[in-house]
Formats: sequence, structure tokens, C-alpha cells
Amino acid sequence: MKHAIEFTDTCKEYGRVRALHGLNLQVPQGEVVGLLGHNGAGKTTTIKLILGIIEPTRGKVEVLGSSPTGKAARALRMQWGYLPESVGFYEQLSGREVLDYFARLKRVGGRERDQLLERVGLAEAARRRVKTYSKGMRQRLGLAQALLGRPRLLLLDEPTVGLDPIAVREFYTMLDDLRRQGTTVILSSHVLPGIEQHIDRVAMLREGTLQAYGTLDELRRQTGLPLKIRASGRWPHGFWKQRLAEQGIAHYRVNGTHLEIETQSESQLDVMRLLLSDESVQNLDVHPPSLESLYIHFNSPDVREAAHA
Ligand code: ATP
Repeated sequence: MKHAIEFTDTCKEYGRVRALHGLNLQVPQGEVVGLLGHNGAGKTTTIKLILGIIEPTRGKVEVLGSSPTGKAARALRMQWGYLPESVGFYEQLSGREVLDYFARLKRVGGRERDQLLERVGLAEAARRRVKTYSKGMRQRLGLAQALLGRPRLLLLDEPTVGLDPIAVREFYTMLDDLRRQGTTVILSSHVLPGIEQHIDRVAMLREGTLQAYGTLDELRRQTGLPLKIRASGRWPHGFWKQRLAEQGIAHYRVNGTHLEIETQSESQLDVMRLLLSDESVQNLDVHPPSLESLYIHFNSPDVREAAHA
């Protein structure tokens, strides 16, 4: 089994609503995939299909080599962890009791439960009732629940919603650990800034259709969006304007100390050589197109029509 998850021509309809159509998607084992899309794009539907909570109207879903609604469903449930979009717990129980309940379902012992409470920063509050927890604390408890039993596959629906900036950073550190350990992770989100360095691939959904799927580099090549080269230093008025005109470089912004050039990746080295050839340049940074600009590109009306054609 090469792929942790495989969708083949998968469709899901709710009456007249086509939540997902013709989804073909393969998630390699051990990768972290960002599942991105606007409201109603089909992210939760995709996750529910993986979990076997719903069945496809047409097409096939395979998870860790088996159908999530077939005979292997029970065994599969022991191998994955799921953090739903909105986490609801028994309010009268303490965080520890809640986790205990889920730990028993997954046949996990008290030691791992306590380690997880520690890991998500709830050790101190573990004996308090959930009804006294803040939104972020509930989200942390949800994360601990999803991590029970060291799952091979982790499905996280909007995991950073309600978390404060420090908790978000801790979450990404945890995600990086899981990635190193070879866990396959699906991370559904609208929140783009900050996630790019923690994911291997991106799947972009729009109105139930997969608009784009690949590594960030693959998507960057596909879009042909320019990268930005930024230089700083000190140079005489009009100096770079003239030099760039001589080289036929037209897309740039410059003042006396900062210069930003937009260029295609094939020309990146030539532009860098040109800038470094003059000692007025003291610093140079290269900025490839951000995940946000890729997202905007793939959600623009033109690209959408091309995908439907
Ligand atoms: P969000 O970011 O807002 O959570 P999403 O990308 O997770 O959105 P889904 O919840 O998968 O989107 O919904 C996809 C489409 O399917 C939407 O049009 C939604 O209204 C519809 N849908 C989802 N569940 C049902 C349901 N049980 N009955 C009818 N329509 C549904």
C-alpha cells in the first residue's frame, strides 16, 4: 500500500446539493496535506468520507488499503485520530475523565492519557470540569483525544480555530513531530498564513471540485506566478532604474535603499547575479509565491472555468 488515502471518481450528493464531484486524490503515506477551500467547498465532506461517517453517492474511497465503510471499518477506527470542526464534550466530566473515556475506546492506558494532557498543556486543568474550559482549552482537549493511540492517520478539521498565538505555535511544533514520525495528516483549514512550512502538499477544493493538488513547488510551477527578489543597500538616484532598463527588466519598485523585482523562476539567477554584481547591494532575499497567492490564483474565476472545461 503506497497511499494512505485514495479517492477514485468520488461524488457525494445531498439531495440536489453536489457537495463533492469527481474527486480523484491520492495521499501518500507519511505526508501532511493541507485541505483548503472556502466555506462549503467540500472539506468536511471529504473528511467524513475518509472516516466512513458518510458513504459516497458514486465512486470509491480507500483508507489505509480498505474501505472505511466495509468490513475493516472497526480496525481502521483504531488507527486514525479525528479532531472535528466543532468539538463537543460531556460538560460535567473533567478533562481527564473525558480523555479517559476516549482512551478506553481506543484501549489506551492512563500513562499515555496523562502524557497527552501534559503535551497539550492541560495537565494543570485536567481535574476541572469541561464546562469551565475556555474555547482554546476545549480545542486542546480535542487534540489530545485525536492523538490517543498514536494514530497512523490524523484528520484535523480547522485545528487552530480558537487557539491563541502561542497555542497555534505549539500546535505546529506538534505537527512537525508527527510528520517526522511518519504520521499521515490531513489538515483542513481556511487559515493560510503560517501553514506552508508545515505541510508537504496542498489540495484546493472549490464548490466540490478539486482545483489543484500538489507540492507547493509543483503548484508554483503550474501557476507561473512570479517570485519576488528584494534587495536593500544604498545607491544613487536613478541608478537601478537605468541598469534594469538596460537588461529589459520592467517589473520592479525602487527607492534609494530598497529594490523589489518580480521575475519568473528561470530568470532568478540572472537577476540575482545582476544585483550582486554591484556593491551598493548589501542584502538580498528571494520570496517565492506564497500559499495565499496560489490560493487566490486557483480560486479566481478564469482558473475555475478552465478546470470545469
Ligand atoms: P466550511 O469551511 O464552511 O466548514 P466545507 O468546505 O467543510 O465548509 P462541507 O461542510 O463539506 O464544506 O459542505 C459542502 C457542501 O455540502 C455545502 O454546500 C453544504 O451546504 C453541503 N452539505 C454538507 N452537509 C450537508 C447535509 N448533511 N445536507 C445537505 N447539504 C449538506
